[in-house]
Parts: sequence; structure tokens; C-alpha cells
Amino acid sequence: MAIDSLNVKKDEVVREKDHPLVEFQETLKEAVEIMNFPPQVFEFLKKPMRFLEVSIPVRMDNGQTEIFQGFRAQHNDAAGPTKGGIRFHPDVTAEEVKALAGWMSLKCGITDLPYGGAKGGIVCDPRKMSQDELERLSRGYVRAVSQMVGPTKDIPAPDMYTNSQIMAWMLDEYDHIREFDSPGFITGKPIALGGSKGRETATSKGVLYTLQRVCELKKMALKNTRIIIQGFGNVGSYLAKYLYDLGAKVIGIGDVLGGLYDEKGLDIPYLLESRDSFGIVSNRFDHSISNQELLEKECDILIPAAISGVIHKQNAARINCEIVIEAANGPTTKEALAILDDRDILVVPDILANSGGVIVSYFEWCQNNQGFYWTEEEVNARLEEKMNMGFENVFNTARRYNVNMKLAAYIEGIQRLAEASRLRGWLKY
Ligand code: GLU
Repeated sequence: MAIDSLNVKKDEVVREKDHPLVEFQETLKEAVEIMNFPPQVFEFLKKPMRFLEVSIPVRMDNGQTEIFQGFRAQHNDAAGPTKGGIRFHPDVTAEEVKALAGWMSLKCGITDLPYGGAKGGIVCDPRKMSQDELERLSRGYVRAVSQMVGPTKDIPAPDMYTNSQIMAWMLDEYDHIREFDSPGFITGKPIALGGSKGRETATSKGVLYTLQRVCELKKMALKNTRIIIQGFGNVGSYLAKYLYDLGAKVIGIGDVLGGLYDEKGLDIPYLLESRDSFGIVSNRFDHSISNQELLEKECDILIPAAISGVIHKQNAARINCEIVIEAANGPTTKEALAILDDRDILVVPDILANSGGVIVSYFEWCQNNQGFYWTEEEVNARLEEKMNMGFENVFNTARRYNVNMKLAAYIEGIQRLAEASRLRGWLKY
């Protein structure tokens, strides 16, 4: 598709100036207080233990050199090496990467993975770069952070606008630097390079398992449940397909340019065939609506599966569903969550709902370390087990402390982090 059309009609989602790091810290503080931990626990966990900012010179196809800004944050490595994806996005900031690394620590805590959290980012617009430029940028990033990462130190993975090909280039660069084969350095790799079966679909499968638990709880039959998914990238598209195949009515989907809506249910297989490699499909139809309109349409379950901050204090009163499942990282701001709570809309938090990706990344790393590979059925069965365990724990914690599921997920996530830090002698309580 013509790149120019992306510039003219850029992202229609009106993002409130959200501050993910402030929100992470505020909720963390509440959780630490509820658990009666000393304030020192909050002081220690509120920021990453390590943070690196790098400049990456990249030779562009036109012969010029451009300098890209990159980040890597390692939140806490008490429980094991750190783990988390790398995003390529024009709006990524140091603060956002720090918050995302903190959320990764919580995700690993909730589902009992032997990791702390990390996250990386490069400020770039991959939609405007050639494959060769992306390869040089990916390799440049690995050279810039190579001292800090490694299979027993910090293990990267895909995140927004990064994929298995980018992981493959990064792995190759790392192997060259270290001069040995090191498949456990990075996850989300292609299967031929030691990737795991089921990794590509893992986040969507995890969201699906969570959704099925919520439906059981609410005594809702999945068949004919009206669902809107905002985001049609890796997570949103597989999820739409699974839900469609199970007989749910996917009545709306949104991509970076707009949304498609049909109260009778969308033809998901057709939309999947029609989308481009960035998950964009709405521009192929004249009846597309804006993402804002899409988010406010009436449905049973709303699944934001794209960027952060799309449900905010200006639109939270108009969200028209019974359940929100956060498939993206940080799609609901703290103020919006309070409004949704007041309106009795159940919000299933990101650090629980989207943890399927890092869970199967962990399985991939285990397989790399063992040199023994599992079947897709084994991967999915173990994923479902972990997701169910996480859901059960967070749900019970929410009941025990009489808090919403977001706060309950923080409480669950912090426990192992704090304990591992205490046992190492880093925290005294
Ligand atoms: N980027 C994904 C996340 O936010 C996956 C991270 C990983 O697999 O390490 O959870």
C-alpha cells in the first residue's frame, strides 16, 4: 500500500497524555501498602535496577546515516534473568520502557516464571523502513546492548512492530559477537532457528483462555457473545480468528487507521486475507469508522489489543460493554479504570491477560536450554495450565482483599519479586 496514505491519516486513536511510569508507580504503591510491606519495597521496585540508552547509527538505503535512539530497561533480576520484548515505535520513550519493564516483572511473578522483567525500545517507524534498513537497525541495537543481555542475563523477545525475522537477525548478530551458538539469547525466533511451536499465537491463545474463564464466571456462553477487538496485529488477528471459529460474534475490529463494525458479525477470515503486513485492513472499505467510535460501540466484551492509553478519562463513561480484557499493555488509564469500576465493568488486567507471550517465551528458552523440542499440543496445554493458575490466583486475591483485578494482579506479581529480593539480602523486612 502507499506509505503516504499512512501519513495523512495517522493513528486516529486520541491518546490522552498518559504516563505509564507514574501509573505503574501509583498502583505499585497501593499494592505494597495493602500487603503491609515497608516503604523501602516500593522505593526499590518503582524503577528499573538498570537502564541503558543507546545511539545506533544506521546506513539507510539512500546512502545517508541516520542515528536512532534505543533503550533497554532491566527492572529486577532477583528471581532470575530479566525477560521482555523490544518494540520499534515512533512514540516509544524511556519512561514508557521503564514502566513496561516493571509490568514484565509483575507478569513473570503472577505466572511463576523464573525471571524478572525487562523491556527494550527503538524510536523508529518500521512502516517507513525497508527490510535491509530494519536488519541493520536490529543488528546495531544488539551491538549497542550486547554487554547487558544474554541467555542467563536478559533475554529479549518481540513486542510492538517486531517479529520473528527481527529476532533472527538479532540472534545472528549476538552469535557473531559471542562466537558461539546461543539460541537461548532471544525468544520469539523462527522455528528453524530454535523457536517454539505455538509462540506466535501464544499471546492470543492466552487472552482466549482468560476470556473463557471470565465467560464461565459470568455464566456467559461464548457462542454469539458480541466482541470488539481494537487492534488487528499479531495479537488481535489470531484472537479474532479463534473467537470467530468458536462461534462468538466479532462485531468490530480496529487497526491503526480506523475500525470496521457490523452488528451481525464481521467476516473475519475475509478480513485476515485482506490485511497488509502491518495488520491494516480498514482502509480497504469506505464504511470504516474511527477507533474512538469503535471503542464506544455497544458489545459484551471489549478487547483493546493495540496501544496504551486508549481508554481514558474522556471516553471511559461512554464505554458500552460488560467486560474489558486488556490484551495490549496499559490500554486503560488509572483514571479510566476508576470510572469503569464505578460502572461495574469488569476489567481483566494486561499483566494477567496478555502474559501468554512471555509464558511461551519461557517454554522456548527451556527448550533451547534442553536442546529438546515440544509439540504444539504440549506447549498449548502447558500455556493453558499457567494462564488458569494465574487467573485463579488473581481472582482469589481480588476477593480476599476486596480490590479490583488490576490491584490484585499487582499484589500477586509483587510477592515473589519482594521475597527473592529479601532472600538475596537486598531488602530487609
Ligand atoms: N512483548 C511481550 C510482552 O509484552 C512478550 C515478552 C517476552 O516474550 O519476553 O509480554
